[in-house]
Amino acid sequence: MAKTKPGRKDLESYTIKGTNKVVKVGDCVLMRPSDYEKPPYVARLEKIEADNRSNVKVRVRWYYRPEESIGGRRQFHGAKELFLSDHYDVQSAHTIEGKCTVHSFKNYTKLENVGAEDYFCRFEYKAATGGFTPDRVAVYCKCEMPYNPDDLMVQCEGCKDWFHPSCMGMTIEQAKKLDHFLCSDCSTEDDSKRTLNSFPVSPQSEHK
Ligand SMILES: [Zn+2]
Ligand SMILES: [Zn+2]
Repeated sequence: MAKTKPGRKDLESYTIKGTNKVVKVGDCVLMRPSDYEKPPYVARLEKIEADNRSNVKVRVRWYYRPEESIGGRRQFHGAKELFLSDHYDVQSAHTIEGKCTVHSFKNYTKLENVGAEDYFCRFEYKAATGGFTPDRVAVYCKCEMPYNPDDLMVQCEGCKDWFHPSCMGMTIEQAKKLDHFLCSDCSTEDDSKRTLNSFPVSPQSEHK
Protein backbone atom coordinates (compact mmCIF):
# COMPACT_ATOMS: atom_id res chain seq x y z
CA MET A 1 0.00 0.00 0.00
CA ALA A 2 1.38 3.41 -0.96
CA LYS A 3 1.67 5.92 1.87
CA THR A 4 -0.44 9.05 1.70
CA LYS A 5 1.77 11.98 0.68
CA PRO A 6 1.70 15.27 2.62
CA GLY A 7 -1.13 17.53 1.51
CA ARG A 8 -3.12 14.52 0.37
CA LYS A 9 -6.10 13.07 2.07
CA ASP A 10 -7.56 9.59 1.83
CA LEU A 11 -11.25 9.59 0.97
CA GLU A 12 -13.69 6.85 1.81
CA SER A 13 -15.88 7.44 -1.16
CA TYR A 14 -16.24 9.41 -4.36
CA THR A 15 -19.38 10.59 -6.13
CA ILE A 16 -19.12 9.87 -9.85
CA LYS A 17 -19.04 13.15 -11.74
CA GLY A 18 -22.41 14.11 -13.20
CA THR A 19 -24.24 11.42 -11.21
CA ASN A 20 -25.34 10.74 -7.65
CA LYS A 21 -23.64 7.34 -7.63
CA VAL A 22 -21.16 6.85 -4.82
CA VAL A 23 -18.22 4.46 -5.11
CA LYS A 24 -16.04 3.24 -2.26
CA VAL A 25 -12.68 1.53 -1.92
CA GLY A 26 -13.17 -2.10 -2.95
CA ASP A 27 -15.92 -1.28 -5.46
CA CYS A 28 -15.60 -2.14 -9.13
CA VAL A 29 -15.90 0.70 -11.60
CA LEU A 30 -16.10 1.32 -15.33
CA MET A 31 -13.50 3.78 -16.58
CA ARG A 32 -13.63 5.75 -19.79
CA PRO A 33 -11.10 4.47 -22.32
CA SER A 34 -8.98 6.94 -24.27
CA ASP A 35 -10.39 5.37 -27.44
CA TYR A 36 -14.15 6.02 -27.46
CA GLU A 37 -14.79 3.06 -29.76
CA LYS A 38 -13.62 0.66 -27.08
CA PRO A 39 -15.69 -0.76 -24.22
CA PRO A 40 -14.99 0.83 -20.81
CA TYR A 41 -12.10 -0.43 -18.73
CA VAL A 42 -13.04 -2.29 -15.57
CA ALA A 43 -11.09 -1.77 -12.37
CA ARG A 44 -11.27 -2.30 -8.63
CA LEU A 45 -10.75 0.79 -6.48
CA GLU A 46 -7.82 0.31 -4.11
CA LYS A 47 -7.48 3.87 -2.83
CA ILE A 48 -9.22 7.23 -3.25
CA GLU A 49 -7.12 10.31 -2.54
CA ALA A 50 -7.66 14.09 -2.77
CA ASP A 51 -4.86 16.65 -2.98
CA ASN A 52 -5.04 20.10 -1.38
CA ARG A 53 -6.76 21.48 -4.48
CA SER A 54 -9.44 18.77 -4.22
CA ASN A 55 -8.31 16.89 -7.31
CA VAL A 56 -9.32 13.30 -6.74
CA LYS A 57 -7.05 10.47 -7.84
CA VAL A 58 -7.81 6.79 -7.58
CA ARG A 59 -5.45 3.87 -7.36
CA VAL A 60 -6.97 1.00 -9.32
CA ARG A 61 -6.30 -2.64 -9.98
CA TRP A 62 -7.27 -3.46 -13.56
CA TYR A 63 -9.46 -6.25 -14.74
CA TYR A 64 -8.48 -7.51 -18.19
CA ARG A 65 -10.96 -8.69 -20.79
CA PRO A 66 -10.03 -11.99 -22.48
CA GLU A 67 -9.14 -10.14 -25.71
CA GLU A 68 -6.67 -7.97 -23.79
CA SER A 69 -4.82 -10.99 -22.40
CA ILE A 70 -1.72 -12.50 -24.03
CA GLY A 71 -3.54 -15.74 -24.86
CA GLY A 72 -6.53 -13.85 -26.28
CA ARG A 73 -10.20 -14.80 -26.07
CA ARG A 74 -10.80 -18.52 -26.10
CA GLN A 75 -13.92 -20.56 -26.69
CA PHE A 76 -14.63 -21.17 -23.01
CA HIS A 77 -14.38 -17.50 -22.03
CA GLY A 78 -17.75 -15.97 -21.26
CA ALA A 79 -18.91 -12.70 -22.81
CA LYS A 80 -18.81 -11.05 -19.37
CA GLU A 81 -15.60 -12.70 -18.19
CA LEU A 82 -12.80 -10.61 -16.67
CA PHE A 83 -9.42 -11.52 -15.21
CA LEU A 84 -8.20 -9.78 -12.06
CA SER A 85 -4.73 -8.60 -13.08
CA ASP A 86 -1.62 -7.68 -11.10
CA HIS A 87 -1.53 -4.37 -13.02
CA TYR A 88 -2.14 -1.26 -10.88
CA ASP A 89 -2.43 2.37 -11.96
CA VAL A 90 -3.25 5.80 -10.62
CA GLN A 91 -5.96 7.61 -12.57
CA SER A 92 -7.97 10.78 -12.25
CA ALA A 93 -11.32 10.00 -10.64
CA HIS A 94 -12.91 11.90 -13.54
CA THR A 95 -12.37 8.89 -15.80
CA ILE A 96 -14.81 6.85 -13.67
CA GLU A 97 -18.06 6.66 -15.59
CA GLY A 98 -20.01 4.06 -13.69
CA LYS A 99 -20.18 1.31 -11.15
CA CYS A 100 -20.28 -2.39 -11.93
CA THR A 101 -20.31 -5.74 -10.13
CA VAL A 102 -17.73 -8.43 -10.69
CA HIS A 103 -19.25 -11.65 -9.37
CA SER A 104 -17.54 -14.87 -8.44
CA PHE A 105 -17.99 -17.52 -11.14
CA LYS A 106 -20.42 -19.46 -8.94
CA ASN A 107 -22.58 -16.44 -8.12
CA TYR A 108 -22.60 -15.37 -11.77
CA THR A 109 -23.96 -18.75 -12.89
CA LYS A 110 -26.79 -18.34 -10.36
CA LEU A 111 -27.89 -14.89 -11.60
CA GLU A 112 -31.39 -14.98 -13.03
CA ASN A 113 -30.76 -11.97 -15.21
CA VAL A 114 -27.34 -10.75 -16.25
CA GLY A 115 -27.42 -6.97 -16.41
CA ALA A 116 -25.09 -4.73 -18.37
CA GLU A 117 -23.11 -4.05 -15.19
CA ASP A 118 -22.69 -7.70 -14.21
CA TYR A 119 -19.34 -9.36 -14.91
CA PHE A 120 -17.58 -12.37 -13.46
CA CYS A 121 -14.04 -13.35 -12.62
CA ARG A 122 -12.63 -16.86 -12.08
CA PHE A 123 -8.95 -16.23 -12.85
CA GLU A 124 -6.23 -13.94 -11.63
CA TYR A 125 -3.95 -12.85 -14.44
CA LYS A 126 -0.26 -11.92 -14.55
CA ALA A 127 0.02 -9.15 -17.11
CA ALA A 128 3.75 -9.73 -17.78
CA THR A 129 3.60 -13.46 -18.51
CA GLY A 130 -0.03 -14.08 -19.47
CA GLY A 131 -0.25 -16.72 -16.73
CA PHE A 132 -3.47 -17.55 -14.91
CA THR A 133 -4.27 -18.58 -11.34
CA PRO A 134 -5.66 -21.19 -11.03
CA ASP A 135 -3.53 -22.66 -13.77
CA ARG A 136 -5.95 -25.48 -14.56
CA VAL A 137 -9.72 -25.80 -14.40
CA ALA A 138 -12.21 -28.64 -14.59
CA VAL A 139 -13.42 -29.67 -18.03
CA TYR A 140 -16.77 -31.03 -19.14
CA CYS A 141 -18.41 -32.76 -22.06
CA LYS A 142 -16.95 -34.90 -24.85
CA CYS A 143 -15.09 -31.84 -26.09
CA GLU A 144 -13.27 -31.60 -22.70
CA MET A 145 -13.62 -27.86 -22.41
CA PRO A 146 -13.91 -25.65 -19.33
CA TYR A 147 -17.38 -24.33 -18.62
CA ASN A 148 -18.46 -21.23 -20.52
CA PRO A 149 -21.48 -19.91 -18.60
CA ASP A 150 -22.92 -18.45 -21.82
CA ASP A 151 -23.34 -21.92 -23.35
CA LEU A 152 -26.22 -24.12 -22.27
CA MET A 153 -25.17 -27.52 -20.95
CA VAL A 154 -27.26 -30.53 -19.94
CA GLN A 155 -26.34 -32.91 -17.14
CA CYS A 156 -26.16 -36.65 -17.69
CA GLU A 157 -28.10 -38.60 -15.06
CA GLY A 158 -25.57 -41.43 -15.26
CA CYS A 159 -22.10 -39.92 -14.98
CA LYS A 160 -23.27 -36.46 -13.77
CA ASP A 161 -21.01 -34.80 -16.33
CA TRP A 162 -22.32 -31.79 -18.25
CA PHE A 163 -22.63 -31.74 -22.04
CA HIS A 164 -23.13 -29.24 -24.83
CA PRO A 165 -26.23 -30.18 -26.83
CA SER A 166 -24.29 -29.67 -30.07
CA CYS A 167 -21.60 -32.14 -28.97
CA MET A 168 -24.40 -34.69 -28.38
CA GLY A 169 -25.96 -34.09 -31.79
CA MET A 170 -28.90 -32.09 -30.42
CA THR A 171 -30.13 -28.57 -30.91
CA ILE A 172 -30.51 -26.25 -27.90
CA GLU A 173 -34.30 -26.41 -28.36
CA GLN A 174 -34.24 -30.21 -28.22
CA ALA A 175 -32.04 -30.12 -25.11
CA LYS A 176 -34.34 -27.69 -23.32
CA LYS A 177 -37.30 -30.04 -23.85
CA LEU A 178 -35.51 -33.06 -22.34
CA ASP A 179 -36.73 -34.31 -18.96
CA HIS A 180 -33.97 -36.91 -18.70
CA PHE A 181 -30.63 -37.06 -20.38
CA LEU A 182 -28.07 -39.84 -20.66
CA CYS A 183 -24.85 -39.18 -22.55
CA SER A 184 -23.79 -41.56 -25.30
CA ASP A 185 -21.34 -43.37 -22.97
CA CYS A 186 -23.92 -43.90 -20.25
CA SER A 187 -26.64 -44.99 -22.64
CA THR A 188 -24.33 -47.74 -24.04
CA GLU A 189 -21.38 -48.78 -21.86
CA ASP A 190 -20.39 -47.16 -18.60
CA ASP A 191 -16.80 -48.36 -18.53
CA SER A 192 -15.27 -45.55 -20.57
CA LYS A 193 -14.64 -43.21 -17.68
CA ARG A 194 -13.15 -39.84 -18.36
CA THR A 195 -9.48 -39.78 -17.52
CA LEU A 196 -8.79 -36.14 -18.25
CA ASN A 197 -10.27 -33.77 -15.75
CA SER A 198 -8.21 -30.65 -16.10
CA PHE A 199 -7.35 -28.27 -18.84
CA PRO A 200 -4.29 -25.98 -19.08
CA VAL A 201 -5.39 -22.38 -19.31
CA SER A 202 -2.07 -20.52 -19.30
CA PRO A 203 0.06 -20.18 -22.44
CA GLN A 204 2.36 -23.18 -22.87
CA SER A 205 5.48 -21.00 -22.63
CA GLU A 206 4.51 -20.16 -19.04
CA HIS A 207 5.60 -23.56 -17.72
CA LYS A 208 8.71 -23.40 -15.60
ZN1 LIG B 1 -18.88 -30.09 -25.79
ZN1 LIG C 1 -23.09 -39.95 -18.81
